[in-house]
Amino acid sequence: MKIARVEHAGQVRLALVDEAKQEVALVGGALASQPNPVLDVIQQGVSAAQLQAAVTERVPMAQVKFLAPLSAFLRNPFAVGKNYHEHAVEFDKSGFNATSGAASAIPQYPQIFTKATTTLSGPTDPIRFNPQHTSSVDYEGEIGVVIGRTCRNVKKADAMGHVWGFVALNDVTARDLQKNHAQWFLGKSLDGFCPLGPWMTSRDEAPTDMRMQTWVNGELRQNAHISQLIFDVPTLIETMSAAMTLLPGDIIATGTSVGVGVGFNPPKFLRQGDVVRVAISGLGELNNPVQEI
Ligand code: MG
Repeated sequence: MKIARVEHAGQVRLALVDEAKQEVALVGGALASQPNPVLDVIQQGVSAAQLQAAVTERVPMAQVKFLAPLSAFLRNPFAVGKNYHEHAVEFDKSGFNATSGAASAIPQYPQIFTKATTTLSGPTDPIRFNPQHTSSVDYEGEIGVVIGRTCRNVKKADAMGHVWGFVALNDVTARDLQKNHAQWFLGKSLDGFCPLGPWMTSRDEAPTDMRMQTWVNGELRQNAHISQLIFDVPTLIETMSAAMTLLPGDIIATGTSVGVGVGFNPPKFLRQGDVVRVAISGLGELNNPVQEI
């Protein structure tokens, strides 16, 4: 299934998305009126058939506004740094990596960090920042994994069984704060710095080799496949779940590819009026304008 929260006729609705027909089915019933219904669907393992049975109306996709599929993050979204070879090299060379200087730019172990829950933002919401606070805001198109079951000590071979599905996201980053504070958390955690959506796609409907592409003002900047990850999704789940319990609704941003703004010389940071588009096959796309405040 492809599941979303949309605004239609002035109301926020739970919806199933039919991408081929460019149509959404609005879901009614008790579940749909919960404050974070997509999280409930994941936590309770609600099936597509159960949701279809509660559909009240079908409308063209163009008649709704897509919101972030989660109305709140369960807890901090997890993210992986330097998880594509060419991006690891471009970031190491950029001068913005406070921990550069290792023998190789390619990490030996997955580099896990988190973003604050208040980074949550919708698929068309503006990316807002104060240019006096940061002057190096950058995009990072990423494939997000949605955990489906509580799990601990999961082996790689079993890992995908714990994945509910996938979602597109933009791990927006203030490079100067990322560098100055050494720990990446602040630079990754400005309010609204995690556009998410437009829907979540269950594992059975997601393409096996998803392509992630990012454009800024129509210029293609990033173009990668999930198969190019240094540490693949099963490895990430094995590594993380060896240390901590993963919960249904947890998000793992799998890392960004080569082509971020900081990789250019001179860097191409985001400015007022820019539009960042992140598209992932089967997961839809984010279109976020940039707004200096
Ligand atoms: Mg990232």
